[in-house]
Amino acid sequence: MLDMIFQAGVVGAGGAGFPTHVKYKAKAEVFIVNAIECEPLLRTDRYIVETFAPEIAAAALRVKAHLGAERAVIAVKEHNAGMVDALRRAVEGKAIELYLSPSVYPAGDEQNLIHCVTGRVVPTGGLPLDVGCVVSNAATVYQVYEALQGRPVTDKVLTIGGAAQNPMTVSAPIGTPLSLLPDLAGGPVGDCVYIIGGPLMGRVVESLEGEVVTKTTGGLLAFPRDAAILSQKDGDLQREARMARAVCCQCSMCTQMCPRNAMGLNVQPHKVMRALAAGNCGLIGGDTNGVWSCCDCGICTYYACNFGLHPSKMMQAYKDRMRKEGVKPVKEVKYQPQGFDTKRLPTARLLSRLDLEKYDADAPFAGTVEVQAVRTPLKMHVGGPDKPVVAAGMAVQKGQLIAEPEGLGARIHASISGTVTQVTGEWIEIRTVT
Ligand code: SF4
Ligand code: SF4
Repeated sequence: MLDMIFQAGVVGAGGAGFPTHVKYKAKAEVFIVNAIECEPLLRTDRYIVETFAPEIAAAALRVKAHLGAERAVIAVKEHNAGMVDALRRAVEGKAIELYLSPSVYPAGDEQNLIHCVTGRVVPTGGLPLDVGCVVSNAATVYQVYEALQGRPVTDKVLTIGGAAQNPMTVSAPIGTPLSLLPDLAGGPVGDCVYIIGGPLMGRVVESLEGEVVTKTTGGLLAFPRDAAILSQKDGDLQREARMARAVCCQCSMCTQMCPRNAMGLNVQPHKVMRALAAGNCGLIGGDTNGVWSCCDCGICTYYACNFGLHPSKMMQAYKDRMRKEGVKPVKEVKYQPQGFDTKRLPTARLLSRLDLEKYDADAPFAGTVEVQAVRTPLKMHVGGPDKPVVAAGMAVQKGQLIAEPEGLGARIHASISGTVTQVTGEWIEIRTVT
């Protein structure tokens, strides 16, 4: 089974792209399928689960057996009636449980989900396996099903939304230029910039030039330049540090609202703000280890801080600094979870705070995008870039192997049939016509 998953090039479709055949090289007590679709406005998991629930359930049972797990649990938000109905039918009579989550943010965060399903807390510096769990996104589990039928990963489902005229969800060949997608959805409303991914954890880009669909792309969202969400996402680090010094009143709301803090992981963004503002890391209180448990959910920035400061950005900056200085996390759970249930943030409140309600629209599936050229990156996963196994001028068929990992990584396949027109150290270009 692991070999078939490796052959197909499956990586975590909802996160950093960790190779799935490596993740499943384990034994676990609980296998969790994450169909929560944590980020607002994205509808990719909704389409995949409503359409392929039986396939997801079948693959979940295979993975459960492979891991030797006692439980297989599919987690979904209870308000997504279509997903819940499809999953209820698919798991009927099977040894799979459903976990129905309230609509809170960040319900789909892996560690959050593990805590909700099992009551366990993944330690700082640890992995889900430390508490007997393996978690995969629903889209990944569907790709595992496909892999077990011998079909490689060639396409990615993503939502084109935000201020799009007709928000929609499509399946696009990997390597499709993102610049082709907005017009499919009728174009953006007004002068917009884009977020690649979800509104909270996605990346803002001024231009789509050079950006392509990868194995982990979940969405392309347009927003007017004056949208509140954009002002919360930009900000130069030095300026933010000056703002922290001038404005942060140490009210600690950022820490009180932090879901990882509520799990007992000692994540204390207000202390990081204090330390960075004063240029004195000692002010973190002698305990920097909790910083590693920040999941970059952004609640402290997007919701908790009434002054519009960016504690989550400071947490990331602090983590980067520790990485550069060779500091390693110590595996520990500092405290007992406290107030976890009462501090959960309703997604509707978050949408309202960020003025995103108007974009919270349906994005029905509109089919597969047809393109004449793709530029497939050689690095779409955790690990180094793949090594091309094709050369310019070669004819390839969709699904044919075009690049191999040299160490940790995942195989890459042609996403369209055509001719290889360019091979560089970063990508392979294929065109249907030359
Ligand atoms: S919520 Fe804002 S003002 Fe309060 S401690 Fe955190 S960063 Fe400072
Ligand atoms: S981004 Fe903020 S709220 Fe989220 S885990 Fe990190 S410190 Fe906590």
